[in-house]
Amino acid sequence: MEEDKNLRARLGDDGLTVINAAEKGRCLVADRDFYAGQTVLEQDPYVAVLDGDSRGNRCDACFKQSPALKRCSACKFVFYCSPTCQRSQWKIHQEECKVLVRLSTEQKRPTLLLMLRLLVKRELQATGVLPVTALDNYEIVRALPTHFSETGDERLVMYAQMAVLIKTILNARYAEDVKEITKDICRISCNGHTICDDELRPVGIGLFPVVSVINHSCSSNSLLLFDGKHAVVRALGTISRGCEVTVSYIELGASTNSRREALSDQYYFHCKCPRCTDDSEDGLYKDDVLEAVACLDPACESFMRLSNGSWRCMSCGSSREPNEVNKLSTEAEGMIEKANRLQAAGDLHGARMAFQQAEKLQTELWNPRSVKLMRTRDLLLRVYLSLEDWDLALHVCRLTLPAYETAYPGSKHPLLGLQYYTLGKLEMHAGSVTEAVRAYAKAFDILSVTHGSRGEFVRKLRNELDQAKMVASSLHATSPRERS
Ligand SMILES: [Zn+2]
Ligand SMILES: [Zn+2]
Ligand SMILES: [Zn+2]
Ligand SMILES: [Zn+2]
Repeated sequence: MEEDKNLRARLGDDGLTVINAAEKGRCLVADRDFYAGQTVLEQDPYVAVLDGDSRGNRCDACFKQSPALKRCSACKFVFYCSPTCQRSQWKIHQEECKVLVRLSTEQKRPTLLLMLRLLVKRELQATGVLPVTALDNYEIVRALPTHFSETGDERLVMYAQMAVLIKTILNARYAEDVKEITKDICRISCNGHTICDDELRPVGIGLFPVVSVINHSCSSNSLLLFDGKHAVVRALGTISRGCEVTVSYIELGASTNSRREALSDQYYFHCKCPRCTDDSEDGLYKDDVLEAVACLDPACESFMRLSNGSWRCMSCGSSREPNEVNKLSTEAEGMIEKANRLQAAGDLHGARMAFQQAEKLQTELWNPRSVKLMRTRDLLLRVYLSLEDWDLALHVCRLTLPAYETAYPGSKHPLLGLQYYTLGKLEMHAGSVTEAVRAYAKAFDILSVTHGSRGEFVRKLRNELDQAKMVASSLHATSPRERS
């Protein structure tokens, strides 16, 4: 294909190549060695839009936060941080703006907005209003798979309804028929990326057709992060020449079954990566522990597996009845729902109490390193932080770390790094300086690779680490043992 040839030529300059593998289709392969933390690939989106929570907090053009955002006076929907950013979007927004005023708030969902922007940009490039380049053209987008025939009926109906709405609100200039628009929506849904900030909080969605060529692995050798809306793929370790570059498409803190389910649901494939196919004793143990029931014997540190209809401990042989386990599980889920509702309504004290109860139930239910308990503790941690309850925040943050270490193996996972960063701050605040230095150092070790060592985010972390070290050495110098 012509666009594949262009893509190959352009990627060759960056030490990359695209090959067609029998089973996987297109793969991105390293044509030279890459080292940990090194940028493998970067790309601006073909199109990207902010999500609802970020609208009004971030610039619609560069996706950066700014205290001085100016709103488009016509549609009153998009915001820009500077005249330069506004100008960069003007040709597209001029068209979009006329459409946006006719949409209800309900209709302005990110997928629909992204689809609109895609059609407008495509049309403007086709008519020569916007330039076309080797990596910024609709042909690379069109080369991405739609998985149209594998998409379930329910989902297709939803996409078709959205396509009808788009077709109705766009003027006659846009010739695409409903079926083509529906296919594009399929394409967005299985190739689009969630754009995140440095702390991995979602801020929007975008289509990065070259990044989309990179296949998934649950033990990927690269990571996709964003600078504003600019995508940056960094190597997590050494990628030798000839190796395939892989990233992760999904949340990795889950068992093999759960990960495979998520991947086939959204991306239509059965994962056969090294982590999914690891059937060594160690691999199976690490996989089981993520969703396993706790052994009730306080002296036993193992967990339970489901066998012959009841939960049985791997180590001491004691068992638990499925009814009791299911009852606890339902009760805890109900409590988490209640806590989420209270939190959404702004009742943080009520949410804290409900999360505490859920955590107590789940501590009886799940083993200490299970991901469910880890997530509840994380929610509790966020509430404690919002309420500035630093002591309890520190306590629960410490409890989450062993689960994080298990859920994100391979150690260079940004969520693990961010959790150590939070721990470092809390330890420092509590005056446990030695522990703070240890946590900051772990965070730095991970985040300087995942986020690159030169960004503002990692510079700030390094300052905090240096300060903690200074405090630690001054305390050490004046400790009673030293003085005597
Ligand atoms: Zn901007
Ligand atoms: Zn406008
Ligand atoms: Zn996998
Ligand atoms: Zn046991």
